[in-house]
Amino acid sequence: MKMKILIVAGDGIGPEVTQEAVQILRSVAEMGSHDFEITEKLIGGVAIKAANTPLPQITLDTALKSDAVLLGAVGGNEFNSLPPERRPEAGLLQLRRALGGFANLRPAISYPQLASNSPLRAEVVEGANILFVRELLGGLYFGEPRKWDRDANVAWNTMRYTRDEVARVARVAFELASKRRKKVTSVDKANVLEVSQLWRATVMEIAQEYPEITLEHQYVDACAMHLMNDPRNFDVVLTENLFGDILSDEAAVITGSLGMLPSGTIGGTVNLYEPVHGSAPDIAGKGLANPIGAILTAAMLLRHSAGLERDAQAIEKSVRNVIGQGYRTADLARSKPDGQMVLTTREMGRRIHESLNQIIERRQAVHAV
Ligand code: NAD
Repeated sequence: MKMKILIVAGDGIGPEVTQEAVQILRSVAEMGSHDFEITEKLIGGVAIKAANTPLPQITLDTALKSDAVLLGAVGGNEFNSLPPERRPEAGLLQLRRALGGFANLRPAISYPQLASNSPLRAEVVEGANILFVRELLGGLYFGEPRKWDRDANVAWNTMRYTRDEVARVARVAFELASKRRKKVTSVDKANVLEVSQLWRATVMEIAQEYPEITLEHQYVDACAMHLMNDPRNFDVVLTENLFGDILSDEAAVITGSLGMLPSGTIGGTVNLYEPVHGSAPDIAGKGLANPIGAILTAAMLLRHSAGLERDAQAIEKSVRNVIGQGYRTADLARSKPDGQMVLTTREMGRRIHESLNQIIERRQAVHAV
């Protein structure tokens, strides 16, 4: 397996967590004799300081020539006074647009040992494993016309989808569901919005291609409630841009910490993978950042861009092992019950790395017999 991976670590805790994810990728490459050409470039605040732009041309060009991009996080308080188009976040938005991914994948998984970290009751979240597939290039965030007419004191946006935009993201959701528990919940507001009626009709049409998948529809308001009442009832949640933005953040509470959440955006020229959290300036440089979101993001990269499903699963298993052994970063250890050991970012990365190496070595030994 040969692939070019661009790392854009960015600002704050971005480089700290990305470093651990890169170690994991290098290990998978070495143990599986894969040829991963890993390059690093600047984005965000560090790029503003070095090149006076949040997305230097060399970063963009390298990204477009890569097979996958892994991003840490961008942003920092010192840039808050810049105009929006010159801030670190503008570099990330530009990169996302240039790579053109239309399907944003966000898993929300409850780990048994962390169930009590969730603000929801442990017995409600335990075992929940949801994959959000959010349409990312259409809907209210991009629809025209849009305007704030200050003189008339009125503003408007347009929620707009074509059949083809819905069909392509629906296929991604059905394909992914076919490798999971074979259920898609499509979320819309078809009782009120015409755009949702088109959404629902198109999803039903595409569902015909996947007879093995159970399709259900939920209105977005009902879905917001069911996610909290019974998160285990969901497998793949397919939804449009705005609804997906809100629901995937809501569902993040089942995992117990922002530091645990990976994401990937696929379907464009080059897939982009990034942990959900930001640059966390409050804890940057202190070794407090949880690298698990970034490490699970690397697993998503291997799954969706390299086709290395077994290695992706091995990484996920090593995360479960290390949590199961009682190791925590500070964000996960707030209540500090007995038997928990609080680790720094590096130590947590190293534990996961060691567990991964053991899993892969064991697998290779079995194959060699
Ligand atoms: P944030 O995600 O950086 O932090 C929110 C809270 O969660 C903080 O208390 C932080 O310490 C904690 N946290 C986040 N990631 C963590 C981790 N891996 N381990 C442990 N704790 C973690 O969000 P924010 O504070 O609203 O934003 C900070 C900066 O990040 C801003 O400049 C914002 O624009 C930027 N941001 C960037 C991205 C991105 O790059 N994709 C996303 C969100 C925010």
